Amino acid sequence: MVDTHTHLHFHQFDEDRKKIVENFEKDGISFVVNVGVNLEDSKKSLEISSLSEKIFCAVGVHPHDAKDVSEGFTYYLEKLARSEKVVAIGETGLDFFRNLSPAEIQKKVFIEQIALARRLNLPLVVHIRDAYKEAYEILKDENLPERRGVIHAFSSNLEWAKRFINLGFFLGIGGPVTYPKNDSLREAVRRIGLEFIVLETDCPFLPPQPLRGKRNEPKYLKYVMNTLSEMLGVSISKVDEMTTENAIKLFKG
Ligand SMILES: [Zn+2]
Repeated sequence: MVDTHTHLHFHQFDEDRKKIVENFEKDGISFVVNVGVNLEDSKKSLEISSLSEKIFCAVGVHPHDAKDVSEGFTYYLEKLARSEKVVAIGETGLDFFRNLSPAEIQKKVFIEQIALARRLNLPLVVHIRDAYKEAYEILKDENLPERRGVIHAFSSNLEWAKRFINLGFFLGIGGPVTYPKNDSLREAVRRIGLEFIVLETDCPFLPPQPLRGKRNEPKYLKYVMNTLSEMLGVSISKVDEMTTENAIKLFKG
């Protein structure tokens, strides 16, 4: 399996990061995409990628951090993105739930990263919270990179799922699909099937239902695969095979 969204460089993994990475093989992890949330943080993400051939990176500025970037930040982002370990730009997007950066600045920083991704021919890792309409409008109007990207931690309904898929995006599905209250998300995934789905943990966040309150890790993707297998009536190995193929297409295509 492929974990398309990790933050293994975060301090929550300082004690046992090496061990987790050493166990990738045993835990059935083909590779992970480790995601940065601002310039400094993206550097850290790149640094830990040297721990394993199975760690690739996304570099970007999260909407929470959009207010802190200076004019021309994409110059520095581009420098990082030129590393051979970098397979995507992100996470970037809009977050009007916590609104830690003003909306207009979030939009500007998002649009600049879309342009960079297109120029570098890299897919996008898109974070959207309470801003599906606004983010969709932007993605619809901008020139997108050929391999589009992933709507990370997709957590809306069938209608929105279809819209982003029609733009060419994959949907990142993880722990939340196992939460009892998320019926509309499960319904969306059931109707869409595996064709446009990639797996992700967003670790250390969003652990699957049996581990709520704990730190999430790539190996816990197996709980997400179990849920998908039951929901869709397909074998776990089929879920593994299809979502792995999708992740390869998206990040290495
Ligand atoms: Zn994340």
